Amino acid sequence: MKKCIYCSSEISLESVVDVCERCGHGVWGEKMFSAIKQNMENARDNGDLNQGSVGMTSS
Ligand SMILES: [Zn+2]
Repeated sequence: MKKCIYCSSEISLESVVDVCERCGHGVWGEKMFSAIKQNMENARDNGDLNQGSVGMTSS
């Protein structure tokens, strides 16, 4: 099981981000979080997900 990096609650292994829904919403807001997840899922599907961490590398 993966764990949320914020609250350590269990999250799905299939989840592309290391945070649970609740913390994701708290940190990024609901819209932003789903946008991030979508980006990560696209990257994973394209096979170029680098390190599995949350996709905020380019700022
Ligand atoms: Zn959490």
